[in-house]
Amino acid sequence: MREKIVAGNWKMNLDKSQALDLANSNNSVDFNSNKVEVLVFSPAVYFDSLGALALANIRLGAQNFYPAQNGAFTGEISLAHLNDFGIKNVLVGHSERRMLFGENHNFLKQKVDAAIASGLRVFFCCGEPDDIREANKQNEYVERQLRESLLHLSTNELKNVVIAYEPVWAIGTGKTASNEQANTMHRFIRDLIASTHGASSAESIQILYGGSCNAQNAEGLFSESDIDGGLIGGASLKKDDFKSIIQAAQ
Ligand code: PEP
Repeated sequence: MREKIVAGNWKMNLDKSQALDLANSNNSVDFNSNKVEVLVFSPAVYFDSLGALALANIRLGAQNFYPAQNGAFTGEISLAHLNDFGIKNVLVGHSERRMLFGENHNFLKQKVDAAIASGLRVFFCCGEPDDIREANKQNEYVERQLRESLLHLSTNELKNVVIAYEPVWAIGTGKTASNEQANTMHRFIRDLIASTHGASSAESIQILYGGSCNAQNAEGLFSESDIDGGLIGGASLKKDDFKSIIQAAQ
């Protein structure tokens, strides 16, 4: 049985008092930590304050980092910096990083390798844009994203990876993939991993759905056989919605 994961991606939102307030609210949600793991990917500037809150039930993750130990990379955050705050989870390959910041397959591969080498768990995002879905080419598109940046990892390294399938047309649009569309893609990804890393890796890897997942549709999505929880953007900023999504995962 794969444990469910509910991860909030706060993106570049919230001020400090809002972040603390939301973290406190999340911490007070009663959930069974044997059944669901809860994380928030917060803005890095709040790691210190949120860490000091002793996020008893909720883990913290980083939305971004630069894949070098240190050096002349003005404005960037290293994995060593993340380590100073006890951060053990990182997002890689989010469609906003791919599209707005030009992170290509090769750079994402470097990020994956750097994070895995430093012992962090990688939440690797993949997903097709609208025109690719319209052309029914989503499987080839997602397969390429995975093969180019992730599937070179060894079977052992892959144990420290969670995949998030996030169709770009569903992110922040209010348009969610149907339960069936999402599950079909998750099954495709699992079958791909079975072919590259074997059946046991395929059955154990957690694959989250992301894209306008909310308090209303979470339960249906999470009850699908190959959906192991969600990466939640907009709804993770709303206390009651995030609470309902966590509860839907148990
Ligand atoms: C995301 O950006 O990872 C995401 C899933 O956003 P939203 O839930 O707002 O669609």
